[in-house]
Amino acid sequence: MSTDEIWDRLKTVADPEIPNLSIVDLGMVDRVEIDQGHVKVDLMPTFVGCPALHWIEQKVEEALAPYPTTVKFVYRTPWTTERLTARGRERLLEWGVAPPLNQPGPVTCPLCGSQKTHLNSAFGPSLCRAIYYCDECQQPFEAMKAI
Ligand SMILES: [Zn+2]
Repeated sequence: MSTDEIWDRLKTVADPEIPNLSIVDLGMVDRVEIDQGHVKVDLMPTFVGCPALHWIEQKVEEALAPYPTTVKFVYRTPWTTERLTARGRERLLEWGVAPPLNQPGPVTCPLCGSQKTHLNSAFGPSLCRAIYYCDECQQPFEAMKAI
């Protein structure tokens, strides 16, 4: 067992709402430690109110099932959308969700790439996402809120 293997296994655990985005892409994994054959994984909870934390914890335990594992949520430093990896941002886009903006600016439509977009509703299907509308292709789309 190596730390690399543990990270590879963690990459198979997907966000419950965006199945092509792993918790590693999301930047949720704070620390992986192997201590005398025991795996310790520290996760940073993402958006407060996302009701999936327990589910994710279970999936991490399943992914690491061959090894005794302790999964813990840590609150040392808050997770922010800046922890999303470049790959994570690409995957969001592939899924049709605009990645969060790290600085103020127009949100790019994931469907046609236009920046002629406006906020339609701050309340998307989940607390993490807002609905935007693209004035170019005239389609609504979701954007992950930056926090
Ligand atoms: Zn568009």
